[in-house]
Amino acid sequence: MEFRPVQRALIVGGGTAGWMTASTLARIFPRERLQIVLVESDEIGIVGVGEATVPLLQQFHGLLGIDEREFLKATYGTYKLGIEFRDWARVGGVFFHGFGDYGADIQGIPAHHYWLKLRQLGDNRPLDDYSLPYAIARRGHFAIAPKAEDNPASFFKHAFHFDAGLYGRFLRGYAENLGVTRIEGKVVDVALSPENGFVDRVTLADGRELSADLFIDCSGFRGLLIEEALQTGYEDWRRWLPCDSALVVASEVTSAPTPFTRSTARTAGWQWRIPLQHRSGNGLVYASGFMGDDEARDVLLSNLDGAPLAEPRQLRFTAGRRKKAWHKNCVAIGLAAGFMEPLESTSIQLIQTAAARLVQYFPDQSFDPVMIDEYNRLTAGEHERIRDFLILHYCLTQRRDSEFWRYCAEMELPDTLAHTIELFGSCGKVPRHTEDSYAEPSWVAVLVGNGFLPRRYEALVDNIPTEQLQQIFARRRAELAGIAESMPTHETFIRRFCMAEAA
Ligand SMILES: Cc1cc2nc3c(=O)[nH]c(=O)nc-3n(C[C@H](O)[C@H](O)[C@H](O)COP(=O)(O)OP(=O)(O)OC[C@H]3O[C@@H](n4cnc5c(N)ncnc54)[C@H](O)[C@@H]3O)c2cc1C
Repeated sequence: MEFRPVQRALIVGGGTAGWMTASTLARIFPRERLQIVLVESDEIGIVGVGEATVPLLQQFHGLLGIDEREFLKATYGTYKLGIEFRDWARVGGVFFHGFGDYGADIQGIPAHHYWLKLRQLGDNRPLDDYSLPYAIARRGHFAIAPKAEDNPASFFKHAFHFDAGLYGRFLRGYAENLGVTRIEGKVVDVALSPENGFVDRVTLADGRELSADLFIDCSGFRGLLIEEALQTGYEDWRRWLPCDSALVVASEVTSAPTPFTRSTARTAGWQWRIPLQHRSGNGLVYASGFMGDDEARDVLLSNLDGAPLAEPRQLRFTAGRRKKAWHKNCVAIGLAAGFMEPLESTSIQLIQTAAARLVQYFPDQSFDPVMIDEYNRLTAGEHERIRDFLILHYCLTQRRDSEFWRYCAEMELPDTLAHTIELFGSCGKVPRHTEDSYAEPSWVAVLVGNGFLPRRYEALVDNIPTEQLQQIFARRRAELAGIAESMPTHETFIRRFCMAEAA
């Protein structure tokens, strides 16, 4: 069979998804091999939120050859070592999901099993005491140590906070340099081929027509091509993730930037605080069925660290995913492919992995259904594992102080998540799934953080005498404290290496 390469890709949408996808494709494919055009509408604009990330973004910048410090300067960025969760398990409770583990395995057994044994013997120190990112974050420190197996100071990962609007601009410059053509215009019509239902062309408001072999729908929530034209369908997950609204506002900086995102549970949702160099990003994510918009506004505005810099902006969404992220010759990436609330900052990660997967399964003009099905299977698995991880934050709560939290505590769970909770409760292990974005320590952070402890630890733990174990753990605490203390403050680190000129 003749191999006819895809030579023209049209990306519809110039938000974070559009420009990350354009940058990835332009970096991988020489311009004479693939012509990339991106169309975006200034009139419609971008969603303009999405300011906290996960460590995987380092790989994206590595692939693109982007200097991390230059990127932070350009986007008024700060570093992120994890997320502090306040009032989730119970009002007054705090736990940390750090980008790292709880210390090296001992005789092949993860450290949290040994911690559990000590706890059962009456040692009440929290698991967070063995997390290096937490030790650094709680002191407000930060540094990047050279990665090496014999350098314990490097045993953590970091992610970033940044200004979403500036990030898009930054990537646009990168992609245009590699030959991506940007067209400003509003798509008003999508024409399908009468022969096979493939997307044939899009028409702009001024009458211009744009055609391509491959169409990438990065048009945001509405899914201009994947849903409005191709009617692919949406799987609605609101029964598990009932939050469907957000109010977003920036506020003045009042203190040194923390090297972590803060997520504080409220009576019908939660509030984020993201520290940037020039402002703080804030938002209240809430379930409109349990909290009115006026009340949400009051909750948000009365819980800011500094004065608001504008009126709060409202967004509505439906948790879920497109039934097929790839249909015929159209691949949806970003909000067009689905959305889950930003509780673990996973949307930008999903854009990154979708773009990478598209490269891996890059089609020819036959658009072989087997490849498309595989892309969709992997995408669905990835979304579902993240969905389970997010639901875990809600369903284990001990809060019963509002209708919302009572609903979360009692809702029926997806089978996969119910199994995870049951297995962990039984023996402290987390089942592994291939499409899981999270390693075991992340699951443990949220399970234990919510006060959910296994009934027993692994049998092999008893091979180490208790006294020896206590000594190992005491040494670990001292080592973490020493490493964290030796680092400069996060603010000093930023000033030294990645301060935006205007900030
Ligand atoms: C409240 C909230 C908080 C979030 N926080 C985080 C976070 O902390 N971390 C994280 O990783 N993610 C977060 N996200 C998700 C993140 O914002 C998005 O994943 C990211 O911005 C990508 O959006 P997008 O590019 O898919 O869509 P958009 O930003 O909406 O961009 C859509 C693009 O399509 C264009 N377009 C639309 N219609 C047309 C048309 N007819 N013609 C031409 N162009 C068109 C628009 O002009 C725009 O350029 C958050 C989302 C929300 C709602």
